[in-house]
Amino acid sequence: MKYANIIVNISHENLDRTFQYIIPGELENNLGIGDYVSISFGPGNRIIKGYVLEITDTAVYDPEKLKEIISVDTDSRFVEYKLIRLAYWMKQTYGSTMINALKTVLPIKKIMKEKEEKSSIILNIPVEEAREKLEQYERNLRTIARARLLKELINEKQLDYRLVTAKLNISPATIRAMEKQEIIAVEKKRVYRNTAGGEQQSNRITLNEEQSEAASSIIRDYSAGIRKTYLIHGITGSGKTEVYMEVIDAVIKEGKQVIMLIPEIALTYQTVMRFYRRFGDRVSTLHSRLSDGEKYDQFERARKGEISIMIGPRSALFTPFDSLGLIVIDEEHESSYKSDNMPKYHAVKTAGKLAELHGASLILGSATPSLDSYYMAMRGEYGLFRLNKRIGDAKLPAVHLVDLREELREGNRSMFSRELKSLMEERLDRNEQIMLFLNRRGYAGFISCRSCGHVMKCPHCDVSLSEHLGGKLICHYCGYETVMTGNCPECGSEMIGSMRAGTEKVEEAVKKMFPYASVLRMDADTTRQKDSYERILSAFANREADILIGTQMIVKGHDFPFVTLMGIIIADMSLNAGDYRAAERTFQLLTQAAGRAGRADAPGDVVIQTYNPEHYAVEAAAGQDYERFYNDEMAYRSLMGYPPAGHMLAILIESADEEAVDRYSKTLAEELNDVIIKGLHAQGSTLIGPVDASVKKINDIYRKVMYIKSVEGNELIFLKDQAEGYCETYKDRNIRVTFDMDPVRGY
Ligand code: ADP
Ligand code: ZN
Ligand code: ZN
Repeated sequence: MKYANIIVNISHENLDRTFQYIIPGELENNLGIGDYVSISFGPGNRIIKGYVLEITDTAVYDPEKLKEIISVDTDSRFVEYKLIRLAYWMKQTYGSTMINALKTVLPIKKIMKEKEEKSSIILNIPVEEAREKLEQYERNLRTIARARLLKELINEKQLDYRLVTAKLNISPATIRAMEKQEIIAVEKKRVYRNTAGGEQQSNRITLNEEQSEAASSIIRDYSAGIRKTYLIHGITGSGKTEVYMEVIDAVIKEGKQVIMLIPEIALTYQTVMRFYRRFGDRVSTLHSRLSDGEKYDQFERARKGEISIMIGPRSALFTPFDSLGLIVIDEEHESSYKSDNMPKYHAVKTAGKLAELHGASLILGSATPSLDSYYMAMRGEYGLFRLNKRIGDAKLPAVHLVDLREELREGNRSMFSRELKSLMEERLDRNEQIMLFLNRRGYAGFISCRSCGHVMKCPHCDVSLSEHLGGKLICHYCGYETVMTGNCPECGSEMIGSMRAGTEKVEEAVKKMFPYASVLRMDADTTRQKDSYERILSAFANREADILIGTQMIVKGHDFPFVTLMGIIIADMSLNAGDYRAAERTFQLLTQAAGRAGRADAPGDVVIQTYNPEHYAVEAAAGQDYERFYNDEMAYRSLMGYPPAGHMLAILIESADEEAVDRYSKTLAEELNDVIIKGLHAQGSTLIGPVDASVKKINDIYRKVMYIKSVEGNELIFLKDQAEGYCETYKDRNIRVTFDMDPVRGY
């Protein structure tokens, strides 16, 4: 006998309340997760509808007392059906409970008191007068923020309040001050401009040859009923967004809806305005600072058909559109598309599944595509388009590669090469801005030789060893251990040690070198407070500082027209992060950072300082040569069996009890090894570990990790199911086990 657990009121807070029904024999073979069924409910046997969440062999009550499902509604047009199917797929693919998967795809319903919201800012003086004021403001450094707002208002007449504060980085205080002087007015009601007015039409950009080739091919496929995934590989500023908009236009004209994902941090004011301008009130945006209630409201608008395009980060994927035609994922290589919570889904792969459920197409775009997506394109599974030209022939910056070993040989022990220092002097003299970038992402304290650049690596896994207390060097994949040596095994130099440079140290050094320059620093420390991130960016955009020092937070999607020099202090930091994606991340960061300098009329300079100038990731980034990077990196991944050449499953075991975490992870590993050896379904898999995670203890919780590699993704799903089964059988409330399929970060 089979039973179905059915939910009758699908909303976030009711998910834990399912009701069990017997699946009648005639339905046994054609009832699936997500199906909409009729059941008789309660003592009065009212006939109501519900969704199948789970199918199981075990009855929760006396089967005698359970009722049968009456019928299944084969009409599966409902949004809920697709979302439940998607959640089920996420649960299976990434590992999690069904409830957690459902909570990921369903918005939280929150009844909120009607809040008086400031919604629009409008220009309150005649345009002529505004232009005069603008000139005044622009002359004074202290009124640059006002100038920026006024300039936008002269163009747009009316702006969304949230957009101005959150995306244009203008503070409520500035807005209040201008309101008091009656230059602007703040209105409570949100007013939307309507799209497709004559003016907007005439401003429409004509696509260049590369762009229209991409757009018209995709639109042609779409009209012919062909649904597939496309990758647009185009350098920054090559006009990818225009291509997306052209296809989106065609898709919504057919009455379909569109979801467009953008990494949170890259969702700039300029981008949002371009969409508002072209599509007017059919567009809505989401961002993580929205409250649950606000987010729910946006989802409701989508459900009611009030909007056709939702733009937002990862979670915007779950917008309940009933007839989705297209999903666009911009900057598809970004690691923020991978969720940190169970199920640890990847938005690109999940979008693929969602597109399949809806019969929609998927467009991925990037200047530095992830290896995974490019690999699919190379195998012919994705359509590939290239945009190689920058619009308006904007110049690429000049890249200077500096060999820090050479600097050392010449007696320069500071963290600034002579070249970077002299370029900085020049920019400060010219009153232009500078960004200094410390690519610490994934940084885990590796050991390298400052004299020859040699890096200590694991002989088995070919990733950098990490430094631990007591001079131990450890591989975070297999646990291989060795001791710190006093001399470089390669050249014998004593200049071997861990690389230590933090943003604070860089700031100190800059202040010493240029006492007259004003410096801003952006890192985890300076952005802890609410809104501090925006405040720093806004101050820099308003030219309140000459130099901005920061981690990767500073290189994403922000346009600073007065920045003409980008200095990358030590490219090697992200290069030796101790996981298999280190080189890919480095290539992306360096290429992105290079794209930040001198975008408009002033050509920029980029200085990349490194101890490994001949590393393929560094060389390819300096030469802006993606193909070369892809080929070299793919050779490494194939040799080692790392994704996308194979698949990898990380299993993280955590507990406050050190002894328990040790025991549990060892037994689980033994169990899985047993399955691998005996089982027919997992013979191509190898298990590595368990070992201490790179951060062995966080908040008094001990962490162990193991990795399983296989060429076959299905084998890993099978092994994950086995592991989930084991954890269910040997449930221990003190132990937490999480799964990460094809991880993008190290543990
Ligand atoms: P990407 O998304 O690849 O970074 P964008 O689509 O943002 O590039 O384009 C960069 C800039 O060039 C934008 O200001 C855009 O309006 C402009 N642009 C794009 N395509 C064209 C075109 N065919 N003609 C004129 N300007 C264009
Ligand atoms: Zn050496
Ligand atoms: Zn190893």
